Formats: sequence, C-alpha cells, structure tokens
Amino acid sequence: RFSGATIFVTGGAGFIGSAVIRHLLRDTGARVVNIDKLTYAANLDSLPGATENSRYAFERQCICEAEPMRVLFEKYRPDAVMHLAAESHVDRSIDGPAEFIKTNILGTFTLLQEALRHWRSLAPERSARFRFLHVSTDEVFGSLGVDGYFSEQTAYAPNSPYSASKASSDHLVRAWHETYGLPTLVTNCSNNYGPYHFPEKLIPHMIIKGLAGETLPVYGDGQNVRDWLFVEDHAEALSLALEQGRIGETYNVGGRNERSNLHVVESICDLLDQMIPRSDGPRRRLITFVKDRPGHDQRYAIDATKIESQLGWKARETFESGLTKTVGWYLEHRAWWNAILERGYKQERIGLG
Ligand code: NAD
Repeated sequence: RFSGATIFVTGGAGFIGSAVIRHLLRDTGARVVNIDKLTYAANLDSLPGATENSRYAFERQCICEAEPMRVLFEKYRPDAVMHLAAESHVDRSIDGPAEFIKTNILGTFTLLQEALRHWRSLAPERSARFRFLHVSTDEVFGSLGVDGYFSEQTAYAPNSPYSASKASSDHLVRAWHETYGLPTLVTNCSNNYGPYHFPEKLIPHMIIKGLAGETLPVYGDGQNVRDWLFVEDHAEALSLALEQGRIGETYNVGGRNERSNLHVVESICDLLDQMIPRSDGPRRRLITFVKDRPGHDQRYAIDATKIESQLGWKARETFESGLTKTVGWYLEHRAWWNAILERGYKQERIGLG
C-alpha cells in the first residue's frame, strides 16, 4: 500500500498522528513527512525508530505559516496530506480559546490554500491521485440524549470552543472541495485511547494516579458517555479512508464501545488491582466526584455503518481488550510518561479527557 507515495502527516508527534506514522512506516511503503510545531502535546519519543527509517522525515513547522508551508510542499511534492495537527484538549479550550481558533481554523485554512496551490501544480496523473484527508471529531455534532447515534447526516451543533473550531475547519475543507475541487475527505471520530496518550487525558491520567494510589477525580456523577476507539484501529481506518474513500465524502469512525466515564475509571481500577494489587485495598475507593465542567456534553456515540460497509473497516479491539492492552502498555512504558511528568506541563484543569 502507498508504495512510493509521499504522505504529509501534520501533527505527527501527537497522540493519533504518531499512531498513524507508526502504522504507515510499519504496514505500508509510504514515505512520511511529519510536520509538527511541537506544542506541549507533542512527543517525538512516540515515534521510536522513525528517525533511522529512510522513509521518514521530520519538519518542525507551524501549519499557520503560509510561506514555510509552501516551501515544504515544493520540497517534498506530496501525494497526500493527512491533517491531524490541532489544539485538541477541550478543557484547555475553555480557559484559552485563542490558540484553538488560530491552529484549528486559520491553520487548516493555510494548509488548504497551500495544498490547493500544490495540487494545481501537479501533472494530471498525479493530481488525479492526490488526496487531502482532514481528521476531525464527533464533538462537532454536539451532545446526544440517552439514545440515537451520530451519522454523517447529523447536523453540526458544537458546544465547546474546541468543537466549534473543529466544526469550522470541517466546513472549510468541505468548501475547498465544493468551490475549488480539491480532492478532500473528512473523518469524524470518537474518543481515542491507547498507547502514547498524553498523561492529562482521562485514561492515562487515571492509570497513573491509580498506580500511585492517588485520588481519582471524576466529573459530575460520572455518567457522561463516550464511544471509545482504540488508536491503532483509528490509524487503520484513516489509511483505508485515504486509500479507498470517495472524494468529497465524510466518514464517521467509532468503536461501538459506549462506556460511562465512571465505568472507564472503575475498569482501570480493577485492571490495576489485578496487575499490581495495593496492600491498602481495591482502588475503586480512590474515586471522588468533582464539579462538572461547563458545557460538558452528556453522550457521544458514533454510527460507523458507512465506513464499515463501504470501506470494510471494523474496529478490532473491544473496549475490554483495548483497555487491558493500554493499562499493560503504561505499566511497561513508565519511562515514556515519567519523562513528560518530569518535564512538567501546565495542567489547566484536572485531566478528564
Ligand atoms: P494531540 O494534541 O495529541 O496532537 C496534536 C499535534 O498537533 C501535536 O503534536 C502538536 O504539536 C501539533 N500541533 C498543534 N498545533 C500545531 C500547529 N499550529 N502546527 C503544527 N503542528 C501543530 O492531538 P490528537 O489527540 O493526536 O488529535 C489529532 C487530531 O484528531 C486532532 O485534529 C483532533 O481534533 C482529532 N481528534 C482527536 C480525538 C482524540 O480522542 N484524541 C478524537 C477525535 C478527533
């Protein structure tokens, strides 16, 4: 797959972007150019062995800067762009929305403009193959009640500065296809989890706190529901969408794994108890309920029928198998997350995903 093709991955030092790059280098013949500004969320340690791979290049670059982005397009002449660079943490967007507007909206606009210029410069055979894949979130659809699912037809109703900025970027991508013909694809996925997840996010946060026997803070009554997607299943879905997706289409990607936040935290406690029991008793007693965050969406759930039926993708991991792998990974990779904790990062609120 992708043999000889050059793929730009923006945000490739982030959680999902690094999973995409590990997948592309391991399972395909693509040449990968990682374009990342290296914000607090980035970590090049999430790409072990990449720098020794002749099919990998790294460019430290902000996607909002048009001129240097143009130079990169001219230097590498990519066959595809997988756009994952973003400010991604909802809690941070509440306390400081400006950076979200800049990267997620203006950054996507800049990237679209430079991709368009590049695409127009390609010879017909190559321009026919070019794709721009924009990676987005199910949070653009707002919140669900107790039943129903987000489909590709669901109307946008974003509630947080983060989801509003992502919704804006999705609309820009759509418009660049409709107006200029840029061959785009959009994916909207549910909450990812898995190895190399930044410690401020719900699952790694609870694993690390639970290991240390510290308090496990859960927002509200813990009944908010998320549809969990194992990050490696997501990476596979993205490369399939890039390879086989229909131009101009949107695909929802979800793991059919709806779980309440409380269930997630209790499951982590139970897995940790099995793997490393504490002498002072089961970890569920560490759970405490804290004041809910403003605009906290009640439930997200994805209907993934389209990508499953049209592209033949299906999540391999159940929540139970993926969580077991994830807890095991954090136990085996303490150096990876300890380095982040030691470096320190400004935690705006508690890390509840
Ligand atoms: P992340 O925060 O882990 O990584 C984002 C990466 O983008 C970082 O490496 C960062 O340095 C880089 N970046 C940020 N601003 C940049 C800029 N201006 N120029 C260049 N690079 C920049 O995010 P993630 O969880 O890997 O998410 C990747 C994408 O997937 C995002 O677009 C996000 O909205 C989307 N998404 C994530 C989830 C999830 O559960 N993590 C769910 C749905 C959608």
